[in-house]
Amino acid sequence: MAINKIQIPFNKPFIIGNELSYITQAVMENSHIAGDGPFTKKCEAWLEKRLGCRKVLLTNSCTAALEMSAMLSDIQPGDEIIMPSYTFVSTANSFVLRGGVPVFVDIRRDTFNINEKMIEKAITPRTKAILPVHYAGVSCEMDIIMDIAKRHKLLVIEDTAQGIMSAYRGCKLGTIGHFGACSFHETKNIISGEGGALLINDKKYFERAEIIREKGTNRSKFFRGKVDKYTWVDIGSSYLPSDIIAAFLYAQMEKADRIIAKRKLIYDLYMKKLQPLAEKNYLKLPYIPDDCSTNGHMFYIITRSLKERKKLSLFLREKGISAVFHYVPLHSSPKGKLYGRTCGKLDVTNMVSSCLLRLPVYYGMTEKDVRIVTDCITDFYKFD
Ligand SMILES: *Cc1c(COP(=O)(O)O)cnc(C)c1O
Repeated sequence: MAINKIQIPFNKPFIIGNELSYITQAVMENSHIAGDGPFTKKCEAWLEKRLGCRKVLLTNSCTAALEMSAMLSDIQPGDEIIMPSYTFVSTANSFVLRGGVPVFVDIRRDTFNINEKMIEKAITPRTKAILPVHYAGVSCEMDIIMDIAKRHKLLVIEDTAQGIMSAYRGCKLGTIGHFGACSFHETKNIISGEGGALLINDKKYFERAEIIREKGTNRSKFFRGKVDKYTWVDIGSSYLPSDIIAAFLYAQMEKADRIIAKRKLIYDLYMKKLQPLAEKNYLKLPYIPDDCSTNGHMFYIITRSLKERKKLSLFLREKGISAVFHYVPLHSSPKGKLYGRTCGKLDVTNMVSSCLLRLPVYYGMTEKDVRIVTDCITDFYKFD
């Protein structure tokens, strides 16, 4: 069969309000398009207020925020960081850059988040931090993770790339651990193409975070008039985005509630339409624990086998629908094997990596688009 043109892509970037006029304003009125301009300040203030975070620094990406948190955690060669294998490369790579050793543990069968019951077994005298990843914007078991961290004097760095505005027992994700790393990549909920933020929840890191983000200089202090010249005082890099990026991002933040409401609508419709297939055990649907409120970041299904997932994604592709799988587990990747190690069996990780299929979710998607996708999936199982 001929492969049709994509009718319903997996993701589609969008403009929702003042993105373009704010970019013009940054250049023409503010005359400030380098980092830390007026729009960057607005984005940081918005995040601090809406997330309830003590300090936010805008960064070039979630990856940059994770690299900063590795420096702030003072990761030394050989230090271990406990994390899931079922995650994006940057979760591990940012720590490997400092000589850290990712220690991969399995994920829970229901949320596909790090299995908190497996964390303590992975702790050694070299363990420095725990890195929960809030998969699909659904929170990890943060109370248990924070308790383990406290008892073993470990840092907690939340990878909340997918979790903007989601919450766990009333706390926004990224504000529970010592650090949180957000992403505004075009595949996330609130976007600026590339973009991210570091959330810092302990005052003792505020000053060093500013220095690391400004190439290891005390430039921010200089601009506040706290020192009379600025100089090289620490390690660091260039982690601050252009104010053009922040201008685009701020326009999205102004409409954040609408964006999230739309994604949740799409999520709920998928749930409703696919329920009959789940009841017949053709596939499994996502699970959200009662303690978690979410942002509709992702909708996925779990097929019965890798073979069936391949057949289904090809079937959808032939109808012009793009559905994609997710992570190749890091413990099975060339560099994951070289730099990391595993603790315990990673059976759930391997299963999810073979059987999970992500369906299209984007702001511009209509209810009709969702129905086209769910009808196609229903057809697939009818004729299978
Ligand atoms: C998207 C993503 C990242 C990377 O975000 P960037 O902003 O592209 O650096 C990291 N971790 C997870 C879990 C992600 O989904």
